[in-house]
Parts: sequence; structure tokens; C-alpha cells
Amino acid sequence: MSGLDIRERPSPNHGDRGEPPNLRPINMLVLHYTGMQSAAAALDRLCDPEARVSSHYLVEEDGRVWRLVPEARRAFHAGVSCWFGEGDLNWVSIGIEIVNPGHEWGYRAFPEPQMAAVEALCLEVIGRHRIPSYRVVGHSDIAPDRKADPGELFDWPRLAKAGIGIWPPPAENAGRRRGQGVGLVHRTAGLADLARIGYGVTAATEQVALAAFQRRFRPERWDGLLDGETSLRLRQVRMAVEAAQAAEETRRRTRFN
Ligand SMILES: [Zn+2]
Repeated sequence: MSGLDIRERPSPNHGDRGEPPNLRPINMLVLHYTGMQSAAAALDRLCDPEARVSSHYLVEEDGRVWRLVPEARRAFHAGVSCWFGEGDLNWVSIGIEIVNPGHEWGYRAFPEPQMAAVEALCLEVIGRHRIPSYRVVGHSDIAPDRKADPGELFDWPRLAKAGIGIWPPPAENAGRRRGQGVGLVHRTAGLADLARIGYGVTAATEQVALAAFQRRFRPERWDGLLDGETSLRLRQVRMAVEAAQAAEETRRRTRFN
């Protein structure tokens, strides 16, 4: 069915997805980087029963794809997490680990063969579970106080062009407003936009959530400060999310009528 050659490397770290009426549908895709010195080390850890961590897939830098946990099972990749006010996202998500040393071991660009495989794999997963674009996220989006992956070098615009996730092109000249502060009214509106996009926003998390937003949507600078450019970008992304939600709603209604 697919051109992807997936190798098996079963991990013992998984659980069930619950029984009705507590069975939650798979409707989210979470992308990670491994943050370890090698692919072999990452595979070992994701399969180590003591580590209690796993993902459904791992994609190496040369584009090789490994399946560690069947999609029907719950992998342990998201940890304490929140999106649109919903927690425990392992229950509803598919997790893909993308090999990269990460910020700790020498963060670097994701090579083309790897991105091509990530793109193909994401398209399969999204198609299989009809995952809406606004529920395709990075680990840092759903756990911004703990995580920075897949990070600012990850090519979200490329994936969006292929129909994976949300990434509207930025307005021209928006960069001129980088670093310029915004007033209180814009600040309140900006934080409301951030929450409307899906981020968990409280007084304690607002700066890290803003930094996570920037890593993904304004990767030139991720200082967590709500400057004029970030505020414009928030509004743009919010509109893209709302348009996608409206389209999803229409699709669902026509399916059931
Ligand atoms: Zn992660």
C-alpha cells in the first residue's frame, strides 16, 4: 500500500488504548527528535523495559523507518502533556521519533532522505486515522515546559506543503516588528490566540508556550517574548487553525448526513 519500507524492532514499552466507553480515538500525531548521540542508542533506549519510553516509529537520518509499537497500542512518548485542554495525550496519539542529536548533543539540520521518509510516514498515519491538521504537533507544543523537540530546525513548512500540519506562510515585512514590544491589549489578545491554537497557557507556562510557538512558527528567534512579529504570527496561525476546524466540521457533518 505504501512505498515505505518499514523494518520491525518491537519495543516492550506499550499499553492498551482503553476499553469502551473509555476508549479515546486516535486523532493526534506527535513529532519528536531522539536527542541522543546515535540512532542505535535511541533504538536501544526506546526498547529498554527499564526506560519505560517508546514511540510507534523511528526515522533514521538516511530515511530508514522502524516500527517499535503497533498503532493500535499506546506508546509512551508524550509524557505529561496538554493540547486544547486535553491531557495524557499518549492515549490519543501516534508518536514518531526522528533521529537527531538534539540541543544537548549537537543539534543539526534534518537531512533530505530523513524528511522525505517523515513526510511519507506522516501522510500514511494521517490518512489512516483522519488526523486533522491542527492536531499534528511537535513534542514542545504539548510539553513546552520540559521539551524543545523537534526544534527550530525542523522543516514544518515543507510538511505543510505536503498537507501535514498547519504552517501558513508569514506576512511580508512582518520581521520589521521583531523585538518591538506590544501593549497590554495586544498582549491579552496574543495569549488568547496562543490558547486558541491549542497551547496550554497559564501564568506559569505563558513564556515557555510562546517560545514553543516561536520555535515552530517563527524559528528565527525563540525568546518567549511577545513582540510585534510574534503577535502578528499568532493571529495568522489562529486564523489558519480556525479555518481548518471549520473545514473539519463541514466534512464531519456531510459524512453523517
Ligand atoms: Zn520528544
